[in-house]
Amino acid sequence: MNLWRRLSGRSRTLALTGAGVLVAGGLVTLPVTAAQAATQCSVDYVTSDWQGGFTATVTIKNLGDPLSSWNLGFTFPNSSQKVVSGWSARWSQSGQNVTAANESWNGSLASGASTTIGFNGAWSGSNPKPTSFTLNGTVCNGGTPPTSTPPTSTPPTSTPPTTPPPTTPPPTTTPPPGQRVDNPYAGVKGYVNPEWKAKAESVSGGSRVSNNPTAVWLDRIAAINGTPNSSSNGSMGVRDHLDAALAQGAGYIQFVIYNLPGRDCAALASNGELGPDELPRYKSEYIDPIAAIQGDAKYKNLRIINIIEIDSLPNLVTNTSGNAGGTAMCDTVKANGAYVNGVGYALAKLGAIGNVYNYIDAAHHGWIGWDSNFGPVADQLKAAAVASGSTVHNVTGFIVNTANYSALKEPYIKITDSVNGTSVRQSKWIDWNQYVDELSFAQAFRNKLVSIGFDSNIGMLIDTSRNGWGGPNRPTGPGATTSVDTYVDGGRIDRRIHAGNWCNQSGAGLGERPRANPEPGIDAYVWVKPPGESDGSSTAIPNDEGKGFDRMCDPTYTGNARNGNNLTGALPNAPISGAWFPAQFQQLMANAYPPLS
Ligand code: BGC
Repeated sequence: MNLWRRLSGRSRTLALTGAGVLVAGGLVTLPVTAAQAATQCSVDYVTSDWQGGFTATVTIKNLGDPLSSWNLGFTFPNSSQKVVSGWSARWSQSGQNVTAANESWNGSLASGASTTIGFNGAWSGSNPKPTSFTLNGTVCNGGTPPTSTPPTSTPPTSTPPTTPPPTTPPPTTTPPPGQRVDNPYAGVKGYVNPEWKAKAESVSGGSRVSNNPTAVWLDRIAAINGTPNSSSNGSMGVRDHLDAALAQGAGYIQFVIYNLPGRDCAALASNGELGPDELPRYKSEYIDPIAAIQGDAKYKNLRIINIIEIDSLPNLVTNTSGNAGGTAMCDTVKANGAYVNGVGYALAKLGAIGNVYNYIDAAHHGWIGWDSNFGPVADQLKAAAVASGSTVHNVTGFIVNTANYSALKEPYIKITDSVNGTSVRQSKWIDWNQYVDELSFAQAFRNKLVSIGFDSNIGMLIDTSRNGWGGPNRPTGPGATTSVDTYVDGGRIDRRIHAGNWCNQSGAGLGERPRANPEPGIDAYVWVKPPGESDGSSTAIPNDEGKGFDRMCDPTYTGNARNGNNLTGALPNAPISGAWFPAQFQQLMANAYPPLS
């Protein structure tokens, strides 16, 4: 009775596109000033689309005389297209006509200089790009830049800032370079991923939660530079997100490092691009380029948090030969050291950067809460932390419940409870586990990890993105004391059919909102799995991302040894792992606990 696993997804309904329109052509003159200054411009309009919504990143390049203010105009081809909320300009829309006027801080645009603005939008039917743009009333034809005035700067062309850049870095977010703070979440605000925010706001009521920080998943090599044509990932790359974090004045940003050779060895939904023997590529094409960007001095005042390799190390303990859930792929990556050496390499390389914080994934209570798994998984984590030249000091802490649904606290059941002399550990649900919830497990596992040699100040994270379990089916008191099963099943707030179920769980709700220092030993509650992104498709969906079809995501599947041969409890009509799944997001909001107002 070990088990479980989690996550992944993709959306058939979501088609992230990154096509841009570059308007170029001749030149026009316009009376901008009394001196008859020439206005020339080009506009690059790039969108990420999904069903019903999109994010547009608009880069305006001044190819004419210097400007002290500007006003961009364009017309949506369809009447359904709307600007919902914009940034870095004052946006307005009248009918299909849209204007964006400069903010006070970006009105001045030298000859040859560019500025990037953006907005979240809505559409139905289709979302064609505008075919023509005006700047200060002149059609942008992309004329030849003036030869007498060289460009004064080369700003990034692909970074949608979500708020005006601060004029100075926030002083409280700045640890002395090279010296880490104990808890990177404390006292600073987290980066809000504008791509997730836009998806959340495309669902009715989503703006109630869309300003929460969520993690950016680097789930393939291409994600480092952005994956505009992927339905299960964003078009912004690592540098784009870091630049946007600076622009937001964020104190921390969270990335998920998730691309090990032979990834997701015990499941299929999040199988990745690298084969089990591709550790050299993992190092040179994945970790090294990420480290090069995160180590850029430009980002030294940001606390960069890396969540390291979900599910991987626990699988080496519980899903190798000799276990009920053993798989050949887990045997292979255990034997060839791909996971241990890959994690060690990531820790060493990223941990060498003074403002980077590494948290290793440590599964959840419903996976390693049994004595037979608890100590061995801790030892496995330690082995990886000292592999490939790493030391335990590269580890800031650990995360539990990533992309899973285990309850944070079971208010009506204690593991020490008994009914008529029988311990609740003998109930079907708890099944001899030593823990009933994530908080008690995380605190105990932290102590275990310190006892085997991790730093005494390590902190735990708990992914509370989808473990709220509110809504009408949430119990309001303990279950009946007829038997341990009536007591546990009647009182547990985790309403899953079985604690080994992990895919798109029906009835789940958003959990605690992200916050620092919520409980002793816990650095933060975090939303690492972006709510509304699928864990895996409920039927086989062909894709070019290596994602498989795991029957644990199929609501008609009657299970296997890992979930006690129960129904999966997965929602129907789910897209592939990582893709936007609006129906799930709606349910997560409806069942949120604490509830949404
Ligand atoms: C998927 C990733 C995705 C992540 C976040 C994982 O299950 O495999 O592609 O980025 O979930 O939604």
